[in-house]
Amino acid sequence: MIISIVSGKGGAGKTTIATSLAHILQADYYDLDVDAPNGEYFLQPENWQTETVFQPQPKIDKSLCNACGACARECRFNALYKLADRVYLNDSLCHSCNLCREVCPQGAISYKPAAIGSVRSGDSSRTGARAIIGDLRIGSTRATALIQRIVRQIDPQKPAVIDGPPGNSCTAVAAIKPAELVILVVEPTPFGIHDMLQTLKILKNLNKPLLIIANKSQDDGPLTAVLAEQGLTPAASIPLKIEHHKSLLAGEILSQSDPKIYRLLQQALTRKTGTE
Ligand code: SF4
Ligand code: SF4
Repeated sequence: MIISIVSGKGGAGKTTIATSLAHILQADYYDLDVDAPNGEYFLQPENWQTETVFQPQPKIDKSLCNACGACARECRFNALYKLADRVYLNDSLCHSCNLCREVCPQGAISYKPAAIGSVRSGDSSRTGARAIIGDLRIGSTRATALIQRIVRQIDPQKPAVIDGPPGNSCTAVAAIKPAELVILVVEPTPFGIHDMLQTLKILKNLNKPLLIIANKSQDDGPLTAVLAEQGLTPAASIPLKIEHHKSLLAGEILSQSDPKIYRLLQQALTRKTGTE
């Protein structure tokens, strides 16, 4: 089963839950929070393998280009622009859609591979499974492309936990799409509940089985009331505890350091999936 862990609000505890579930299920862990992956801090993988990920990027042959500007006019991402008698590429905006090459009447555009990031993978003795980490190249805007590339590597025969990016943008959708179950982690504060409602709209559109976990909770009342309006209830609630923060600061997986959390998450999952 592929489980995606997401949260509308950053800092809700997505990685805490994702690494705990990877531990409980002995699942491969995919860190798709490619802007700031930090799951490895808890999983401590070893025997790293690294692969650079490339995407095609246009290259303009100046000897063939007559500066007609067609490519710049057609590019939907404003990655090409014409200045005087030359066309320039802002590579951080390019989405490798191939349109400029199609519209160029001079055949002046070809493609060259450009690095957008890398995928590192290693063995975690803490989970007994693989940890796969996506690293977006600094300055690159191609997070969604990198996530989609890593998602294609998921082995459907093995349990997999995806630690998705926070928020409700294209990157979050790319991390949700392959999921057979989505776990939405909510910090039950006004800010956290607001962002949760945005994520719920996406999940309804994608029609994904859903489990909601409140984290860092002091009072679930407002969250429970808002969820009731949607016909939903939290499957588990993890209280705000100083011991949990100390454990996370020490780089421990919460389900490993606190047996109560192990049982709580395991029970929530078992109730949802009907598995032991
Ligand atoms: S490949 Fe697409 S996004 Fe990139 S420069 Fe060409 S038209 Fe624009
Ligand atoms: S469409 Fe081709 S010829 Fe026209 S400006 Fe772009 S690269 Fe140059």
